[in-house]
Amino acid sequence: MVIISTSCSAGEHKESQEGYSITAVPFTDVTLTDDFWTKRIETNRTVTIPFGFKKCEEEGRIRNFARAGGLLDGKYEGKMPFDDTDVYKIIEGASYSLAIHPDKELDKYVDGIIEKIAAAQEEDGYLCTWKTINPDKTPANWVEPGPRWHNLGASHELYNAGHLYEAAYAHYKATGKTNFLNVALKNADLICETFGPGKKLDVPGHQIIETGLVKLYLATGKEKYLDMAKFFLDQRGNAKGHKLYGSYSQDHKPVVEQDEAVGHAVRAVYMYAAMTDIAGIMNDSSYRRAVEKIWENVVSKKLYITGGIGARHDRESFGDNYELPNLTAYNETCAAIGNIYWNHRMFLLTGDAKYIDVLERTLYNGTISGVSLDGDSFFYPNCLESDGKYKFNMGSLTRQPWFDCSCCPTNVIRFIPSMPNYIYATRNDSLYVNLFISSKTKVEMNKTKVEISQQTNCPWDGKVTIKVNPQTSQTFAVNIRIPGWALGRPVPGDLYRYLNENPEQITLKLNNEPIDIHTNKGFAVIERKWSKGDVIELNLPMPIRRVTAHEKVKADINKVALVRGPVVYCAEGIDNDKEVLDMVIPDDTEFQAEYQANLLGGVTVITGNVLDKSGKIRKLTAIPYYAWSHRGPGEMAVWMPRKTASAETK
Ligand SMILES: [Zn+2]
Repeated sequence: MVIISTSCSAGEHKESQEGYSITAVPFTDVTLTDDFWTKRIETNRTVTIPFGFKKCEEEGRIRNFARAGGLLDGKYEGKMPFDDTDVYKIIEGASYSLAIHPDKELDKYVDGIIEKIAAAQEEDGYLCTWKTINPDKTPANWVEPGPRWHNLGASHELYNAGHLYEAAYAHYKATGKTNFLNVALKNADLICETFGPGKKLDVPGHQIIETGLVKLYLATGKEKYLDMAKFFLDQRGNAKGHKLYGSYSQDHKPVVEQDEAVGHAVRAVYMYAAMTDIAGIMNDSSYRRAVEKIWENVVSKKLYITGGIGARHDRESFGDNYELPNLTAYNETCAAIGNIYWNHRMFLLTGDAKYIDVLERTLYNGTISGVSLDGDSFFYPNCLESDGKYKFNMGSLTRQPWFDCSCCPTNVIRFIPSMPNYIYATRNDSLYVNLFISSKTKVEMNKTKVEISQQTNCPWDGKVTIKVNPQTSQTFAVNIRIPGWALGRPVPGDLYRYLNENPEQITLKLNNEPIDIHTNKGFAVIERKWSKGDVIELNLPMPIRRVTAHEKVKADINKVALVRGPVVYCAEGIDNDKEVLDMVIPDDTEFQAEYQANLLGGVTVITGNVLDKSGKIRKLTAIPYYAWSHRGPGEMAVWMPRKTASAETK
């Protein structure tokens, strides 16, 4: 099979003033017919969302709104100044869920909470429960008491506002109701009156208000919200107007001059997502150059093979270049989710499949590892190695039901049901198939309605069948992503590479006839007159591949990780006589892959004969990384030595 790559791109010009030139097909227009994701979304709906609301009820997060609104007496409950955001994030997830799965009871319950939130909003639009209840009593000793907007680096008032906007936008899009959106707009209007040139020049310590404001712009068309988002970004690193918070909050230099991912990883990645919005929606080339540089830094020096980012427990931050420890890897679940939000926007900005490569790697590994298969326990950090002793997960060796800072569980809740957003996209008369997930959608190409249905057993098998059914015959392009993992690179950049060659070839067929693969920016482009019943068949070989890391990654020197398609594998004690940390995987090991329907919700398992540290043969069983830690705590390793200690000294 010939793969021909071209660099020209049709339809580069921007058509819409309202958004990116590429538009994601919204999850509401995508029906999943797969097993893998349908199960996860259903578990999120039936278990995780009710569980999250229950925790918020129990721990006073919802009572805080009632108190701020004068409906209830008492003090602020909770240990964080941003507990309001957990409620917002669960409403966001519940809204996505309602859009796909109408549920009158849930809808009514959410409306009841929105009433309390509206009551908590002050006359002029201000909304932040701990400040309204008692500004002199802070929830945490690292937050200074004081009036509105005091100590914005730590008060999280603008962070609370950002999650309010994100949730209200989702609720409005999903239900068509404006009760929550109106609360958000009233708050955003106050922000626009308070901050900006000639007004307050301060910025939030924790970003997210920026993407939230962009969403309010998309909902209303009011440019002041977009301008406000850009103001908060432009103002970072500018000491005129506020005392700089430093690199921890990415406030050490102007954002357009930043070229390395530093500081708190979640703050950073939310900011990069917002910067990409400005690059894509305002067509700002300096923002585009900056996010492209930062992205290069992340993928070539600071990305785990699981798509996780933010190596250090210390301050939840990015490490130095190539600092990617395994046992102590932080990899906050929120940061992985943020990495998906950012990479999706980078794709919408550029039309380049390499961003979907990172998105997909993060999706199947470092993101869904954050929530148990049953949907009621969570990882906050996602380490790549466990010795069964170091309590990496906030004092625990395994997933926990909840945390004092429960950002990760509630981020999972809002992310999972929105996942079908990432499968398809359109630009003018081109369709993009980004992810391989059995699903159906309807799009319009050249004013003709086109039904698309995709059938695959990915991530366990690389055969993909796509049926293209236009109402009447019509000319347009179908762009099918050829994943980097099938082409010889586990992720973009040179941080990781495959050790073994793949002798099998990618094949593409159209109506049963093999065709050459013409790629543009990582997509196989098939432009033709499509007719009812046309069928594309793509076969992506999925051999077991060995991955090695760049020599500068000290933690992975002389080590190998096993991957198959988009899935990263690990060895867990329970499958391997409790001990995996002394396991050695020689380069000539032969592996087998087998699907086991009854294990861990159905997974493909890798087995092979490897060595123990003394050189004796032992059996390895490896499972998908995301599925580890469901059968009790113990050892786990993603990266394993290639040689025994004695062989290394020879
Ligand atoms: Zn988190």
